Amino acid sequence: MTPAFIFFFFFISVMDVCLSAPAEMKNQTDEFTDDDPRPKVDLENLVLHGDVAVTNTFFKNADPCTARGCKWPKSGRYVNVPYQISSEFSQQEKNIILRGMQSFHQTTCIRFVPKRSDQRDYIHFFSQRNGGCWSYIGRQRGQQYISLERRGCVHHSTVQHEILHALGFHHEQVRSDRDRYVRILFNNIQQRQRGNFKKVQTNNLVTPYDFTSVMHYGKYDFTSNGQPTIEAKSNPNQQFGNARQMSANDITRVNRLYECNTSRRQYRY
Ligand SMILES: [Zn+2]
Repeated sequence: MTPAFIFFFFFISVMDVCLSAPAEMKNQTDEFTDDDPRPKVDLENLVLHGDVAVTNTFFKNADPCTARGCKWPKSGRYVNVPYQISSEFSQQEKNIILRGMQSFHQTTCIRFVPKRSDQRDYIHFFSQRNGGCWSYIGRQRGQQYISLERRGCVHHSTVQHEILHALGFHHEQVRSDRDRYVRILFNNIQQRQRGNFKKVQTNNLVTPYDFTSVMHYGKYDFTSNGQPTIEAKSNPNQQFGNARQMSANDITRVNRLYECNTSRRQYRY
C-alpha cells in the first residue's frame, strides 16, 4: 500500500465526477469485457474515509459488516467474486490488476471470475482522473466499484489492499486491539482525516496485530505537520506501512473469514 498516492476526499458530489478519456487501447480480450465503465454509484451519497468508500449509512455499514452479510458467498470450496476491469486501463495495467487477483487464487479460496450477465453482484475496477484509490468494505450488492486511478494506484500492493477492503477487511491500525500496539498521534493528523484513525470493533480472526500488513497505514500518513501520526508503542523508531504485498496474516485472515481450509470444521472467531 502506498498511501502517498491516495487522494483523500470527504465528499464527492456529482459535480466532481469527470471520467477520464475513453479507453485508448483496443487489444482487449473477452476477459476484459467492459459493459459499462461509467460509474453508476450514488456519488452524491458517497463518502470516502481515507480510501474507504462508504455511503451515508456508514455508521451502520462499517466493518465488521462481515457478520451481517457483506461477505461474498461461498459456493462449494470457493468464493467466486465476479469482476470487470474497465477498458480505461492499458493492457499492462490490466495485467497488474489480474496479478493482484491471482495472488488471492494462489493463497486463498477466493476466485475472481469474469462477470457473466447473470451475476448481479460484482466488482468493477475503474479509473477516473483525480479519483484516487478506494474501495468499499465488503460486498455491497450490485455493481461495486474499486477505484484505481491509473496515475498512482495501479500497483500490486494497492490492488491487494483495495481488494481486501472489498472482501470485508479494514485498516490494520483501526482494529479493535490497536491501542496495545500503536499510539495514534491525533494532534499530528490533518483535522479532516482524523476519522480514518478511529478504532473499529473488528473481528481480528485470532491473528496478531501486524505491522507488515498491506492494510497498515504508514507512520506519517495524513500528517499535518511532518510529524508521525502513528507510533509503534514497542519502538517509536519503527517504520511500517510500506508492505509491497499481503503479509502471511493478511492471507490467514482471508482464509479464516471465508473458511477456506475447512470442509467440516467451522471456525468460530
Ligand atoms: Zn485502505
